[in-house]
Amino acid sequence: MMHYLDILDEINKCLHCLLCLHVCPLIVDLNQEIISPKIIQNSLRNPINKVYVDDVIYLCLKCGACKIICPRNLDITKAVIYIGKSIFSDITTRKMQK
Ligand code: SF4
Ligand code: SF4
Repeated sequence: MMHYLDILDEINKCLHCLLCLHVCPLIVDLNQEIISPKIIQNSLRNPINKVYVDDVIYLCLKCGACKIICPRNLDITKAVIYIGKSIFSDITTRKMQK
């Protein structure tokens, strides 16, 4: 399993070319710019964006199209899975503390 620093290392290799935005089906097919590899990256870098991402992260299809087109071969789906597990863990911890 990847850890936060591994994910951040990956994300920091991003060239900001935005090619991934042109293949993400959430944007291309559903015309929804609610989530994108760039948004996922920003949420990992900047906690201010995290609240928004927590609400929409489950919409990612984990299709891997963003990884295939990425010149750096960045695996956004791993970041998505990592964020999803973190959210689940936060919720479980809060419930156990009640
Ligand atoms: S894995 Fe998620 S973010 Fe990447 S292209 Fe597919 S739906 Fe979009
Ligand atoms: S295609 Fe890869 S390098 Fe380009 S913006 Fe997307 S994640 Fe970054």
